[in-house]
Amino acid sequence: MSGVPVAVVTGGNKGIGFAIVRALCKQFPGDVYLTARDPSRGQEAVAKLQQEGLRALFHQLDIDDLQSIRALRDFLKEKYGGLNVLVNNAGIAFKVQDTAPFAVQAEVTLKTNFFGTRNVCTELLPLMKPYGRVVNVSSMVSSRALRGCSQELQQKFRSDTITEEELVQLMNKFVEDTKKGVHDKEGWPNTAYGVSKIGVTVLSRIQARLLNEKRGGDHILLNACCPGWVRTDMAGPKATKSPEEGAETPVYLALLPSDADAPHGQFVSDKTVQPW
Ligand code: NAP
Repeated sequence: MSGVPVAVVTGGNKGIGFAIVRALCKQFPGDVYLTARDPSRGQEAVAKLQQEGLRALFHQLDIDDLQSIRALRDFLKEKYGGLNVLVNNAGIAFKVQDTAPFAVQAEVTLKTNFFGTRNVCTELLPLMKPYGRVVNVSSMVSSRALRGCSQELQQKFRSDTITEEELVQLMNKFVEDTKKGVHDKEGWPNTAYGVSKIGVTVLSRIQARLLNEKRGGDHILLNACCPGWVRTDMAGPKATKSPEEGAETPVYLALLPSDADAPHGQFVSDKTVQPW
């Protein structure tokens, strides 16, 4: 087993994830895994970094596929005996002009952004080594969507005692409510992406609390963040930040020094803790 520190980035083949991998290759003192659901897109991205003189390693990971997540888990356990840095960056968004019914957009978006990210956390968080760093890429859209929720939902999502099971139930309820055409009446905002990112931010708050309870002495720091509005295939060419600028806050959180005890369980944007 290798004693080398190891970092994993999901959705690393393009966009912000690729820029995070590039920055980690320059700054992280260990092996950096660029993961992608499509091996050829992933290998191409690794080759591109190699041309820049940077060494990233590749492992397949489709966050929608539990088998794929478990294969990565077993590989990390066997080769490294754990994990030092995990960046949950993979995500999807329907284009504004997409004509797919809202209920379909809700189901598909939540499947990857919330349930996929949660499955990665369920399988990989137990592998986190002391002083590990976990970054869940959420979005400012989650704060906006939170403010668009009914008072009752807002209270639940801001609660310091909400459990992961309760959050999962709420995320499932959103999908069901869109199918029944009652999501408005039930207090949900009109954004599937926004609700999926509420899920990611609240999940991060819950997981940070669980780490305090179960692994208090291990100094693991886990946060959600917004990269900003970034020029990628997802956000388009008019966005204000380059992918490198978008990577800054996630990379800052991934590389918090070992004597840091904060931020933890926060939602961070432009390297600054935001109110939730
Ligand atoms: P992007 O260019 O569309 O890249 C998304 C990445 O996620 C791609 O590598 C994609 O792989 C991967 N991915 C999607 N579904 C996956 C799955 N099931 N398993 C594994 N990988 C998967 O988007 P981006 O703008 O870089 O977004 C990165 C993250 O930042 C997302 O979580 C997004 O919500 C968040 N974000 C972006 C912005 C922005 O302005 N761009 C703002 C706030 C938050 P494929 O190439 O195979 O599709």
